[in-house]
Amino acid sequence: MSKKIHEGGKIYGRLRVLAEADTLPKKKGTHVRWLCVCVCGRRVVVPGYKLRQGQWSCGCYRNQKTAARMTAINKRKAERKADRKERN
Ligand SMILES: [Zn+2]
Repeated sequence: MSKKIHEGGKIYGRLRVLAEADTLPKKKGTHVRWLCVCVCGRRVVVPGYKLRQGQWSCGCYRNQKTAARMTAINKRKAERKADRKERN
């Protein structure tokens, strides 16, 4: 029997596993990939081990975090500029 973990129907963070995408031969055993749908609506193929490592979004989560960080940096810059203006 194969030790393949069946991920179909499972939910990992933002991803819902739809079906097995394909199985790639790997040096050790097989490398199963899963077709997942993200809460943002994008469909992504994620290897099973990545799901278990915690890659639980299509990438939009990271992008959102980056965007939030950039907004915070720009806000601080703007505040500093305003600060300087007041002092001068
Ligand atoms: Zn997404």
